[in-house]
Amino acid sequence: MKRRDFLKAAGGLGLAGAAAPAAARPNLEPIPDGYAMLYDSTLCVGCKACMAACKRINGMPPEPMGEETQWDAPRDLSGRTRNVIKVWKRGAARNKDDEEDGYAFVKRHCLHCVDPSCVSVCPVSAMRKDPKTGVVTNDPDACIGCRYCVYACPFDVPKYEFHEPYGRIQKCEFCNQPGVARLDQGLLPGCVEVCPTGASLFGTREELLAEARRRLALKPGEPYRYPRERVGAGVGHVRPAPRYVQHIYGEKELGGTQVLYLTGVPHEYLGLPRLPERSYASISETVQHTLYKGFAAPVAAFAGLAWIVRRNVERRGEVGRDDGREEER
Ligand code: SF4
Ligand code: SF4
Ligand code: SF4
Repeated sequence: MKRRDFLKAAGGLGLAGAAAPAAARPNLEPIPDGYAMLYDSTLCVGCKACMAACKRINGMPPEPMGEETQWDAPRDLSGRTRNVIKVWKRGAARNKDDEEDGYAFVKRHCLHCVDPSCVSVCPVSAMRKDPKTGVVTNDPDACIGCRYCVYACPFDVPKYEFHEPYGRIQKCEFCNQPGVARLDQGLLPGCVEVCPTGASLFGTREELLAEARRRLALKPGEPYRYPRERVGAGVGHVRPAPRYVQHIYGEKELGGTQVLYLTGVPHEYLGLPRLPERSYASISETVQHTLYKGFAAPVAAFAGLAWIVRRNVERRGEVGRDDGREEER
């Protein structure tokens, strides 16, 4: 039997048994005062201090690449790297945040989605979203290494330690996993603490959304006091506002994320894909619950996962074709 025929038969089996489709599950709501981060790409100078701090605090090994055999030089997230700074360039790449002849930085790590696909597909609840802080964590003792979360993440974030015999999933946990627990001790995430320009700020999602809106309301060139570490912190610097793209990435995408982005070039250039407001988790769980009503439990679980993975694979193909990236490393 071909895979397509199997899927049709499986879907038919489940749906035939169901009395009626289950009511659509809406997106999960943001957790009030959930922990969040605002990354303002226009402030980032690409120093990679955040990458070094992330490695040190989380005990991650260096990842030499190509000719850079003496230095940690990861090209992307991996089983050894939870945070990476990438650069987009076009033309002669002379001017920061210039669409025609410029360059821009982007910080890549887990966005701590409000309604995370990775949590939705995890069969053993190893991937969890903290009900108070909203931080998404992976419990290595519960994880069975199926890597469903890897395929389900719309942002291509969780990575498996293929270099280890008993590999674990690696991804940003806001430096608050057991053994690190910086937030529980009242400390900042490592990447925020060391960021010299305030490109990465920590706070509640509400605070950071308000800060992002204030920045979008600035006229280009208008002086603004940019804080470091947290909104309202004593440390910071004054500089002229850039020309922002008028969109807070992560406010609404897939039901919202707890890492928010401001940029000076279109988000797609920086690998932040255009996404709908409805979360993938809400759609796949509606499909699953419809099938469960027909008592087709294994088919339901498979159908939910297959839908979410297929959506990601299609979308990544689209991004590869038209995101405008000319060079990235
Ligand atoms: S970005 Fe990916 S890994 Fe992070 S919470 Fe969202 S779905 Fe999960
Ligand atoms: S919050 Fe911690 S784990 Fe996440 S990117 Fe920053 S330093 Fe790395
Ligand atoms: S430490 Fe701050 S300025 Fe430096 S690369 Fe990271 S986000 Fe950018």
